[in-house]
Amino acid sequence: MQDRIVDILKSMDMDPADFSQGNLDVFSPIDGSLLGKATMDTAETVDAKITAADGAFKKWRTVPAPRRGELVRLLGEELRTHKDALGALVTAECGKILEEGKGEVQEMIDICEFAVGLSRQLHGLTIASERPGHHMREYWQPLGPVGIISAFNFPVAVWSWNAALALACGDSILWKPSEKTPLTAIACQKLFERAAAKFGADAPEGLSDIIIGMRDIGERMVDDHRMALISATGSTRMGREVGPRVAQRFGKCLLELGGNNAIIVAPSADLDMAIPGIVFGAVGTCGQRCTSTRRIIAHESIYDTLVAKLKKAYGSIRIGDPLEAGTLVGPLIDEDSFNTMQRALEAARGEGGTVTGGERTLEDKYADGYYVNPAIVELPEQTASMREETFAPILYIVKYSDFDEAMAIQNDVPQGLSSAIFTTDVREAESFISSAGSDCGIANVNIGTSGAEIGGAFGGEKETGGGRESGSDAWRAYMRRQTSTVNYSRELPLAQGIKFDL
Ligand code: NAD
Repeated sequence: MQDRIVDILKSMDMDPADFSQGNLDVFSPIDGSLLGKATMDTAETVDAKITAADGAFKKWRTVPAPRRGELVRLLGEELRTHKDALGALVTAECGKILEEGKGEVQEMIDICEFAVGLSRQLHGLTIASERPGHHMREYWQPLGPVGIISAFNFPVAVWSWNAALALACGDSILWKPSEKTPLTAIACQKLFERAAAKFGADAPEGLSDIIIGMRDIGERMVDDHRMALISATGSTRMGREVGPRVAQRFGKCLLELGGNNAIIVAPSADLDMAIPGIVFGAVGTCGQRCTSTRRIIAHESIYDTLVAKLKKAYGSIRIGDPLEAGTLVGPLIDEDSFNTMQRALEAARGEGGTVTGGERTLEDKYADGYYVNPAIVELPEQTASMREETFAPILYIVKYSDFDEAMAIQNDVPQGLSSAIFTTDVREAESFISSAGSDCGIANVNIGTSGAEIGGAFGGEKETGGGRESGSDAWRAYMRRQTSTVNYSRELPLAQGIKFDL
């Protein structure tokens, strides 16, 4: 195991031995070296953990919601105490820069705070009944064990979005992290266990657990009828497999899948804001965010200026070890990811694209780390490769001449996660977020496509899967709706005035 993660783990009072044993090797994308090991689950251990989660749910659902919120508050405190260390572990395991690693943990803290407040606001409705002497109400009840499947690029935040809400809502949780990032998951589970120990006996055994392994391990959870909700974050390919399997058993599914996010840069755009917005969105996390900016739709009047400024900005990006201060772009997750990026650039060239950047860099320093110069691809029109999500820092740019055309290009992709426009024209701004505007779950004006706050519902349409997580009323996905009619009269009138005289 690398010394640097030993120090990180010790600073969280965790035993490095718990991160260095087992049959799953975990490599750091920083230099390809062995970072640690984890133990993979088996069919039997997954089954036992689901049984425990089911038992825990039956107890947890009876604990009053504000008291459940107290456990989430304690989890948030653990995260606050260990923000820097957990952020550094995220960086070591998935390669995003330290600033983003810590930002991810801050997001966990934020969602815990949100869920604590929520635990006193899981409100239903009272509805006017058509019958005299009747009350009609809508309740939200705990749902059941929630299965969380997460991707490598947000190895901890995605868990917390689900975990904090599910726990406040009265559900137990079982988490299958990416096989590329199990160590951060083990650390999160340990922090949860500390919070649960402080909380006391009301937190049942099995309330939160992790299962580690490849997709077959995830599939066992997906197919188990006891898992009331499967909240799955990852590629559209994964969602295409998981969605029908859960539907087959009439389970609930929340899908957070791939994005292909565009920014329209209008003639009136403030380029001093647009350029940093685009660059952060396109190269942050080395282009491996679901909300990464992948497409620029630039008005012909500012196209040349914009492209020249972007190329200049790209020239000054500091690429390197993400644990080092000052680095803006770390490595891709692995060699496969690099090869996929190269294939996408080759395809774009074949479609008439002009590629700037995209080559491997720092090879001499990191023979097994895949660092790249972020790429800009100028295309004559939106092509097939531009319609796909390539999980790497590739920024495609096309020109437009009128707003409707820009809107059509923006929406003409299979994915529907995030979108943005830079404009100072109020008509364009409002049109962009109108019913005929962006078809995405997220539509921003004068900010980029990535870096969402937790207060809003997060997710997208079309092949992004339709799920919503995090803020707003996303909590409802973790509860079941119950309509209750109470007759406090001495008569038994039927709805719709139906007469049934015995
Ligand atoms: P991936 O689809 O390869 O893996 C994601 C997770 O799904 C992993 O834990 C994996 O083991 C599991 N998995 C894969 N197939 C499965 C199956 N058949 N049954 C059960 N589990 C299965 O994705 P990745 O490469 O880790 O992450 C990148 C992708 O995730 C990108 O497409 C990105 O856009 C997407 N993503 C989306 C969001 C969002 O909120 N919309 C957030 C982060 C990442």
